[in-house]
Amino acid sequence: MNTPAAGANAAAETLSEEAVDALGRAHATATATPPHRHDALLSERAANIKQSAVRDVFEISMQPGLVSLAGGNPYLQSLPLERLGATAAAIIAEHGLEALQYGGGQGTLELRTQICEVMAAEGIPDADPENVVITAGSQSAQDVAAKVFCNPGDVILLEDPTYVGALNTFEAYEVDVQPVAGDGHGIIPSLLRERIAALQAAGKRIKLLYTIPNFNNPSGVMLAPERRQEIVDICREANILVVEDNPYGLLKFDGVLPAPLRAANPEDVLYLGSFSKIFAPGLRIGWALVPAHLKQRYYLASEAVTLCPPTFNQMLVSDYLRNYDWMGQISTYRKLYEERCTALLAALDEFMPDGVTWTRPEGGFFVWLTLPEGIDTYPLLYKGIDAGVVFVPGAAFSAAEGPSNKLRLAFSAVPPESLREGVRRLAPVLAEAIAA
Ligand code: PMP
Repeated sequence: MNTPAAGANAAAETLSEEAVDALGRAHATATATPPHRHDALLSERAANIKQSAVRDVFEISMQPGLVSLAGGNPYLQSLPLERLGATAAAIIAEHGLEALQYGGGQGTLELRTQICEVMAAEGIPDADPENVVITAGSQSAQDVAAKVFCNPGDVILLEDPTYVGALNTFEAYEVDVQPVAGDGHGIIPSLLRERIAALQAAGKRIKLLYTIPNFNNPSGVMLAPERRQEIVDICREANILVVEDNPYGLLKFDGVLPAPLRAANPEDVLYLGSFSKIFAPGLRIGWALVPAHLKQRYYLASEAVTLCPPTFNQMLVSDYLRNYDWMGQISTYRKLYEERCTALLAALDEFMPDGVTWTRPEGGFFVWLTLPEGIDTYPLLYKGIDAGVVFVPGAAFSAAEGPSNKLRLAFSAVPPESLREGVRRLAPVLAEAIAA
């Protein structure tokens, strides 16, 4: 009988070779393009820029028949598309060519002022629009941070695991990325202290601590409120600037969000925000709230990269914040992601073999699985594809070298029934690896 599951498995079987090829191609492009005389012209920095493992599996994830638990795309279907179309047309009608012209390098005052309202909802009531720099997403804000603060060889501490895009950005600046271990409640302050002391004793210059305190990508973990101030204090004592990346904060499923690290520490925290997860990522509008004494340098570095943030997109976001129920939209997103997270956790409870553990996020997009020590999840990716499911192996998310017994599942873009089916397919793959 051709049940839906059997059909999907058959599709997965016929696809697997192609899919594995796609993965191979992605790696080949990243690591082994044919030699060319221009290779001699390449910077050492360029050699450090790697293709992200998430991008590697992205191509595969698109294949029909596979359940992709790999990509952490926001689910945008609940946006009022028709109305947004009318707004876009009205912006051109009202602002004319100004909407298509260059603008100020820091971003419009109107949007910077509105962003301060968004940050008030995130727990920062006192932000000054003067210290906000609008960027092409939080991604470019991270890039500017590395550019402003880091010379080659300087250390950036990253909570482990961490966002793969940040790792890639920092490595491109020839930074020495160093992991700081966390647990189910985020960075462990005593380990941070030890790590800083050890690196300083080895003569290293530590510049930044990059952290995602709310619903970390990939782990889904939220930094415990009682650890937050201690972490900033440790960094302040060591003269390390904290880079707090908070794109998921407003997506806490319910309850009160703990105060951001920036809230009580305006001098010691560079705070990064984004409309990618609370509105739409394709607009590429994010921001940095910069300590006042660093604002000028940060702003000039940002301007040197992009000249100015996109004028039209800023107008669209401004109109959205002015005229739409943006908080209502965030509530819709929260409810949707909570439903999906609940479905994924229920499926894990139902299907996962003994020996596998996972996080239970209170917000965001991701669940992080841990297999027994000694199992490398990278080769399991291929087995997963054969079984019709795609995930991202854990090694991609660590500044530490070597294999990882972890893997990331993203629930944001997948309907509940497919989440269950994906986990049902994944379970035997992991069970076989554990039994081997
Ligand atoms: N930071 C984190 C933790 C992320 O997960 C992502 C994207 N998934 C980004 C930054 C990049 O977001 P943006 O679209 O704002 O550049």
